[in-house]
Amino acid sequence: MSLEWTKGLLPKGYLEMDSSDYAELSLEVQRAVYAECRDRVRYFAGREDADKAIAAKNPVTPVEWIMAAKSVTVKCEHCSGSGEYRWGACVNGRMTHSGKCYRCGGKGHTDFDDMRRNIGYDNYAICQAFAGCFR
Ligand SMILES: [Zn+2]
Repeated sequence: MSLEWTKGLLPKGYLEMDSSDYAELSLEVQRAVYAECRDRVRYFAGREDADKAIAAKNPVTPVEWIMAAKSVTVKCEHCSGSGEYRWGACVNGRMTHSGKCYRCGGKGHTDFDDMRRNIGYDNYAICQAFAGCFR
């Protein structure tokens, strides 16, 4: 399955739909939506762990596979699951600065919406990092 073929099939707003909306799509489109949702989880959990976490929810129908992929949460690597990001100098075993982790919203794990936001931010950060190289 090529990437262009997948993008052409996806309906507008396919990530915000609920299970009744997904049920109305054709099997071909459901598969394309599932592949997109699964790839978001794979971006954070890695291919094997993401596939295991999705399969652990015991989905049967295509719609259940989509909803399973959207419901997987991944431990936040930015704050090690604590929900609090720490930075600065380490003084007597404690970091001098700390605050709410924006990567997971202070929850300690990233849900599907967090993953979408973080992928968007990562793409933005990559563009900003390389912006100076092409001026
Ligand atoms: Zn976090």
